[in-house]
Amino acid sequence: MSLLKQSIPTKLLDDNGMRLDGRRLDELRPTKLEMGTLKRADGSAYIEQGKNKILVAVYGPRELHPHHLALPDRCLLRCIYRMASFSVEERKSPAPGRREIELSKVIREAIEPALFLEEYPRAGIDVYIQILQADGGTRCASITAASLALADAGIPMRDIVVACAAGKVEDQVVLDIDDVEDKYGTGDMPVAMMPRKNEITLLQLDGIFSPEEFQKALELAQQGCKQLYELQRSVIKEKYKTIREEVGGDEKKEK
Ligand code: UDP
Repeated sequence: MSLLKQSIPTKLLDDNGMRLDGRRLDELRPTKLEMGTLKRADGSAYIEQGKNKILVAVYGPRELHPHHLALPDRCLLRCIYRMASFSVEERKSPAPGRREIELSKVIREAIEPALFLEEYPRAGIDVYIQILQADGGTRCASITAASLALADAGIPMRDIVVACAAGKVEDQVVLDIDDVEDKYGTGDMPVAMMPRKNEITLLQLDGIFSPEEFQKALELAQQGCKQLYELQRSVIKEKYKTIREEVGGDEKKEK
């Protein structure tokens, strides 16, 4: 057993109501977003949310292989969520497990409503999500990064998709639970949404929430989504600002 193994916390909130990592109940983990990380992908993004580190590569729309999977009336979106063996405390088998297959589906269903798949019949879009380090909330962080990678690939979208979980620790509703809070808390509610359309594309619930707690958690998760959306927007704007400067620079050179 590793000497670094997590000790079981007796309390998840201190006497001042602060969380183990020093956050307030309604505070997101420090988050860093990047787009265009990988040069060989059509689009890519990288997210660090707390200790989560996730890389996403997007290819397509492109010819679909194998051909027999092609859909006559729309594009096939494939999301492949995989955890690296070294991404978690107990070594994860490199073979995709049931959880990875399920999360791949959940993530695809959260992203799909934002895409115009009917515009690319018989084609495919592949979204590869590689979890390099996991610390709770990887499905949500993957959705946030995947939609940024889709934007980086220049794929038109109705809206960007952003995700964040709320949870319950010591009977308090909290935002953006980490691994310890997930394991030793009493509830987890991952939410994905299209923030400008104000439409929810994923809502899962693990644990027991009263109707009031459910409402509070949903509102908190949506607030978290909106904060992450501002981050996504600033990263996209920065990319296009840089491109515009480069293009502008070229024009000046030509003159
Ligand atoms: N986890 C782990 N080993 C595994 C799968 C998950 O240690 O094989 C941890 C990891 O930190 C993950 C957390 O458990 O982020 C919560 O997993 P869950 O299935 O709830 O999905 P997530 O919260 O990451 O979307």
